[in-house]
Amino acid sequence: MTSFPSAARKAGDPRVTVDNRILALRESVARFCPYGFRATWHHVLVNARVPRQLTDDPDSLCRAAAELVEARQVWMTYRDAFADRRRREKALGRRDPVFADRWYSWGNRLAYCPNPTVHPRERLVVVVQRVMEAYLSGRDVSVSCPACGSTRPDATPCPRCGVDTQWLSGRPVTVYRWRRIWQAV
Ligand SMILES: [Zn+2]
Repeated sequence: MTSFPSAARKAGDPRVTVDNRILALRESVARFCPYGFRATWHHVLVNARVPRQLTDDPDSLCRAAAELVEARQVWMTYRDAFADRRRREKALGRRDPVFADRWYSWGNRLAYCPNPTVHPRERLVVVVQRVMEAYLSGRDVSVSCPACGSTRPDATPCPRCGVDTQWLSGRPVTVYRWRRIWQAV
């Protein structure tokens, strides 16, 4: 398995064939996908204007990889700061993270977009920064979208930007669905 840094480096390397570079870009997205894999993949292809025929614009792969690298760097800074804080809190006897810290258990999927073509369109780093600030502020992100700030009905993807935070709100949606599937068998 390739690490994110080496996959992203390969995706942006003009000495590598475009076929291998697009595969490396896919690997990079698999390792860092704030909207989930499919929506993040769609986001980087659209934002970097990656053409259907890769040889028409090989530099687009550099732009796509650079957007991912930049956003991941910011996310890692937040993640590391959070890990440090949790270590200090545990040392002081606070074992359970508070509600506002739930984003951490999502791994690198910070702002899940169930529809792969409906996601924020700004540069990824801007969105990552905004959602992280929203999570760390402790505000209720099931009412006010952490990515665009619009208010929306509870437990639905944001109609403006497509981000869905219902898992973050603590509702056991997956468990509920799984229970129904299980009982139907
Ligand atoms: Zn939104």
